[in-house]
Amino acid sequence: MNSLKELGEFGLIDRIRENFTAPKDILGIGDDCAVLPQKNGLQTLVSTDMLVEGTHFLLDDISPEDLGWKSAAVNFSDIAASGGKPVGTFLSLALPKGPGCVDSSWMEGFIRGYREMSDSAGAPLLGGDTTSSPDRLCINVTVLGQVRQGGAKLRSSACPGDLVCVTGTLGDSAAGLRQILQSLQRTPELVRSHYRPEPRLEWGIRLGGCDSVHAMMDISDGVGSDLRHILDASGTGARIDLSALPFSPELLQACMDNGWDPKELALCGGEDYELLFTLAPGGTVPDVPFTVIGTITEDRKLVWEGGDMDYMGFRHFFK
Ligand code: ADP
Ligand code: MG
Repeated sequence: MNSLKELGEFGLIDRIRENFTAPKDILGIGDDCAVLPQKNGLQTLVSTDMLVEGTHFLLDDISPEDLGWKSAAVNFSDIAASGGKPVGTFLSLALPKGPGCVDSSWMEGFIRGYREMSDSAGAPLLGGDTTSSPDRLCINVTVLGQVRQGGAKLRSSACPGDLVCVTGTLGDSAAGLRQILQSLQRTPELVRSHYRPEPRLEWGIRLGGCDSVHAMMDISDGVGSDLRHILDASGTGARIDLSALPFSPELLQACMDNGWDPKELALCGGEDYELLFTLAPGGTVPDVPFTVIGTITEDRKLVWEGGDMDYMGFRHFFK
């Protein structure tokens, strides 16, 4: 078998996927959520995400409340990405044994943040597992959701001519992370969007209800990576107008102060947890703030108009 570096995160997932075939009425590996049948005109959505100390968070920087919030939020984001409503979560914790930050008052804070996010999503914690870990803290959450039969938005439904759209603004979380990692002056709004992302559940449900919304996913690895999943799954290409990317004033200020390129943060940074979707030409979406950043094309190329490099987004095992 090739090294993990050669395979990369998505090559490895493909190798795993080759060994398993989902039954024909279940959508398995490859989208934001698995989609399973129910008997009452609804479908069940399931997704899982893991957060590992040192890879996804610095235990001595993030507060336990924020880590609890974020662990739940990134999972709810995959339900939003499918246009569904969350039902409940399962939380598994591997807690380091030695002296460190994780003690009972830290756990109280973590649970408070997790519950705050769960309450705002209307989806309670339903179970989980708790073990010790020799070294690092590891958090795994599984989320269950529901969507009307046939209503789940998938990565595979983009059509040539569709507009490529994103909700909110891009790059804030990545800029907040840079400020944290480089010990720079922190912009509260940017650090907040990194530590307390807002899953776009209401917007996801509204977008999910629009027939003119075709493909949809959430932005966890940066548009440079995530858009490629929509293009691969749909067998299409896209032209993206880099001058149309939506940036917050705080991001632009931080880029001016530090000499950063906002396009790179928006496309390669990740963890925005905004929604990336394609919209039939002339289609409208009420009450969702979004920006059109490009067009889906028939050829299978991804073209960055106004850019001088290829933007890849974040991938594990590539460094
Ligand atoms: P997301 O960023 O939306 O959480 P990922 O990029 O992590 O999605 O995963 C892409 C797809 O691959 C999803 O359908 C996910 O369930 C699946 N997947 C990821 N890792 C594994 C694994 N170890 N085994 C089986 N499926 C996996
Ligand atoms: Mg996702």
